[in-house]
Amino acid sequence: MTAPLIYVESCPVCGDGLCRIRVCITDQRLNGCVLCDECEAVWTDPSLQERVSRKPDADDPQCPGCGQSLWSKNAHWANIGEVCLLGWYDRVRVVSAKEG
Ligand SMILES: [Zn+2]
Ligand SMILES: [Zn+2]
Repeated sequence: MTAPLIYVESCPVCGDGLCRIRVCITDQRLNGCVLCDECEAVWTDPSLQERVSRKPDADDPQCPGCGQSLWSKNAHWANIGEVCLLGWYDRVRVVSAKEG
């Protein structure tokens, strides 16, 4: 079974990617943010109001919550349970793999 694709909308920055929910776990705390899977733009939440700029010396996009790389082993694409925990379920679209 393939995990469903969870996203907010098409990326307003690059137009190609999808704004997807990325989570990281630090000290057993779940941090969530929105990450474009193409251009790596980062927002603090699915309203896409507040975009997080990357530190000039950073190679990877960073978690707004803890500052570590969103490509680190502590970070991953959120599953539905995690999206619910963040309280963002109403703000995302969920596409099951079959429809794709
Ligand atoms: Zn993008
Ligand atoms: Zn984090």
